[in-house]
Amino acid sequence: MKRFLLPTEVISGPGCIQELKRFIKEGDKVALITDSFLVKIGVAEKVEEVLKNIGATSQIFDDIPPNPHAEVVGKCRAFVEDIGANVVVCLGGGSPMDVAKVVAMLANNEGTWEDYQWNMKQPANPPLTYIAIPTTSGTGSEVTKTAVIIDRNTKKGTGGDFFFAKGALLDPELMVSLPPMLTATTGIDAMTHAIEAYVGKNNQPFTDALALEAIGILAKYLPRAFSNGDDLLAREQVAIAAAMAGLAMDQSGLGIVHSMSGPLSSYYDVPHGLSNAVGLPYGMAYNIIAVPERLARIAEALGVDITGLSDREAAQAAVETVMDMMDDMQIPKDLNDYFMKYGADEGDIEKFAEESCKMFLMRNNPRNPQVKDIAEIFEAILK
Ligand code: NAD
Repeated sequence: MKRFLLPTEVISGPGCIQELKRFIKEGDKVALITDSFLVKIGVAEKVEEVLKNIGATSQIFDDIPPNPHAEVVGKCRAFVEDIGANVVVCLGGGSPMDVAKVVAMLANNEGTWEDYQWNMKQPANPPLTYIAIPTTSGTGSEVTKTAVIIDRNTKKGTGGDFFFAKGALLDPELMVSLPPMLTATTGIDAMTHAIEAYVGKNNQPFTDALALEAIGILAKYLPRAFSNGDDLLAREQVAIAAAMAGLAMDQSGLGIVHSMSGPLSSYYDVPHGLSNAVGLPYGMAYNIIAVPERLARIAEALGVDITGLSDREAAQAAVETVMDMMDDMQIPKDLNDYFMKYGADEGDIEKFAEESCKMFLMRNNPRNPQVKDIAEIFEAILK
């Protein structure tokens, strides 16, 4: 059985945060959830201004680090309940967006986050109105029904239709401050979503269309956004592609690259986009034998002329094109620095490989990996 659902109203374009008025009315009490850097550089202030003009009151919670852990959820929930918010607006990347969607649900329901994350509890009531304003273009969390929170040393995605945002505002003006390296790695995160959804076992025509189109847009506009962060057209296109790729992966699943990325972020705190970017060429190459024809279509979407190439050759060209794109954007090829920083423990490679193979996301990968296969990739990435 296949299913596809997008209840989130998605609006894009320069200045589109003004459209908060579609979802928020005079007198609303808004919890504005963000991170401290976005407050520091004045991006949060722009959203506060729009809320003020609508006649809503807002208070900020900005204590959300990248790769958030479960403790942050508790603090943020207490804040939302203390101020009596009836609306949650999130401004930021996947880290604040994931905390915000969880807290919007918890604030209207009984139980702790642990009950929902680990004990399969389902909410009895609808969440508070939740609006997402992404400021990175990578995770697609603004349109996904998933929240990724680290707990018990596991990067665990928890999903349900109750997590869908009511609205997602993709405003490229709020993305111009994203530095080139974060633009590149979060953009490749989106590329990874599209590629893993497209080659995954659970692919289907709705998500195939989104994934292939997202790959094409990213191939064209991500290098432009990296080269010139003020290019609003490129920023908007990358943001749209990230949302499309997010939808594709949320509804069709991920695979080997995200399964390897989990332990890297949980144990070494590697930024999500970077860990996916470094693993992507390895994951694609590993899957060629299982889905050469799907990777050949990806080559086409990337702009490769595949005339006269076998599927296998075209698939290899897709891997090389992605590697060239990452080279152009100076994305590191390995995570050796993290390995050294966290103790260069030889046992980690085996442990990470075992954990990756057990991850739920791996079940969607087109090729069933052995622990030793994944250990070989970690050897190459970490040493
Ligand atoms: P992030 O939210 O962790 O932010 C990374 C950094 O970018 C932060 O330091 C932040 O301050 C900075 N930043 C954000 N926007 C900026 C801007 N406009 N200008 C300058 N700096 C800016 O990064 P992310 O990659 O968007 O999110 C990663 C998280 O999302 C991970 O926890 C990952 O597991 C999760 N994720 C969730 C989903 C989902 O469907 N829910 C999907 C993929 C990933």
